[in-house]
Amino acid sequence: MLYQSTRNSAAKVEAAAAITQGISRDAGLFVPESFPRISMDEIAAMAGEGYTDRAKRILSRYLTDFTEQEIASCVEGAYGGGKFADPKKAPLRKLDDSAFVLELWHGPTCAFKDMALQLLPYLLTVSAGKTVKDKKIVILVATSGDTGKAALEGFKDVGGTQILVFYPRDGVSVMQKLQMTTQEGENVSVCAIEGNFDDAQSGVKAIFTDREIEEKLKAHGMLFSSANSINWGRLVPQIVYYFSAYCDLLAKGELQPGDSMNVVVPTGNFGNILAAYYAKEMGLPIAKLVCASNENNILTDFIRTGTYDKNRRFVTTISPSMDILISSNLERLLYHLSGNDDRMVVSLMDALQKENQYTINDEMKGKLQKDFFAACCDDHITKQTIKQVFEQYGYLIDTHTAVAVNAYWQYIEQTGDKTKTVIASTASPYKFPVSVLSALNGGEVKTDEFEAVKTLSAKTGTQIPAPLASLGEKQVRFESACERQNMKQVVFDMLGIEA
Ligand SMILES: *Cc1c(COP(=O)(O)O)cnc(C)c1O
Repeated sequence: MLYQSTRNSAAKVEAAAAITQGISRDAGLFVPESFPRISMDEIAAMAGEGYTDRAKRILSRYLTDFTEQEIASCVEGAYGGGKFADPKKAPLRKLDDSAFVLELWHGPTCAFKDMALQLLPYLLTVSAGKTVKDKKIVILVATSGDTGKAALEGFKDVGGTQILVFYPRDGVSVMQKLQMTTQEGENVSVCAIEGNFDDAQSGVKAIFTDREIEEKLKAHGMLFSSANSINWGRLVPQIVYYFSAYCDLLAKGELQPGDSMNVVVPTGNFGNILAAYYAKEMGLPIAKLVCASNENNILTDFIRTGTYDKNRRFVTTISPSMDILISSNLERLLYHLSGNDDRMVVSLMDALQKENQYTINDEMKGKLQKDFFAACCDDHITKQTIKQVFEQYGYLIDTHTAVAVNAYWQYIEQTGDKTKTVIASTASPYKFPVSVLSALNGGEVKTDEFEAVKTLSAKTGTQIPAPLASLGEKQVRFESACERQNMKQVVFDMLGIEA
């Protein structure tokens, strides 16, 4: 299996190189040159297995330059220990006859990013061993909250790596900030940026592409890599849980082999829903992919009209991990929809950069709308959905999952489709306790986040996840903040390199 760049189909590399590099030199993203098929017989056999064995099967189709033993040790390292609070890793909860919630937040940081970021450090270490022997890998992350913590937790004390996370000082929740500033581990650093997420993100990008810094790192036996969802090593672990959900439905007798299911995904950077699309391309019988957005509904408009238009207001919502106007992984879907037309992708991305918008042709739009349905809702409806789901099913969901549930309700109202549906639940409700509590109370919540956590638990009879329960007692290790123009210096300081 080889990977090609979305901006140059001729640039082909093996999985290890794709994962180590993170992004292609032509700024394109690596995609598999074809999709391996998994037969229904094999899927039915997987129904009798646990999550780790299911993961090994999927990964071995894509990481063909890894040995079976390497894949096994990566997967067992990530999911085998006690890092996930639920033995099933990604358990499925039944809401009613057709709706099932796939809980992806039982990892150490209580958000779905753990599903991939617990595995990525292992994949990256093996990949680097095959491609760039004996170099120290330096991971730089700009985060709006969840990715930073999940990456820190994944890379902490991983030999041969060092990680530095930049977060916008006033752009993350109290919980998210504390999760990062109390991070343990010898190879980790965290620094706040005076500015917003875009400042952090463009600062990190500038460092990544600075030749002088690259040379300096090289002289010290180091190189940069990315833990962002542009890295293939973050996408491939996410394909696994869609297969796993289908297998669980088979095992419970909810589906018979060959039956279809729908999938609903609360979407930001388009990584999670793209993984579901890949599962479908591999033969998993997914009928519809429902793309759920908050008030930043650029994807809803795109799927409905074929025009991606960034000329709009950025809205800060109570589902902050979906507050995004440039969904980087959409580039991969454009490549597939165009029949691997790299020139088409380059011209669409050019248009996005120059005119802030692009429109796909009718053929691509037809394919897009055949597979995808899109819906969005604002904060008010998000809160109403949390309350209604709790009252109707006695089940507590977070703000991101609520956007997905509401999109599902809009979908069935419009189509009447009774197909069994898996709704991806991307965060524990305890990560956003003030918003969730105010949704249940129907009013403003005056207490701080820690009080809200306790009140939420008492009110709903649900358990506080251990990593969040102990957060208040942890020692803050990282208090520094810097101006955007000083990020370079912060990187050098952390690495012990003279500027
Ligand atoms: C990152 C994140 C999302 C969005 O996922 P994408 O892969 O970027 O589309 C949704 N919900 C939560 C809680 C997240 O952390």
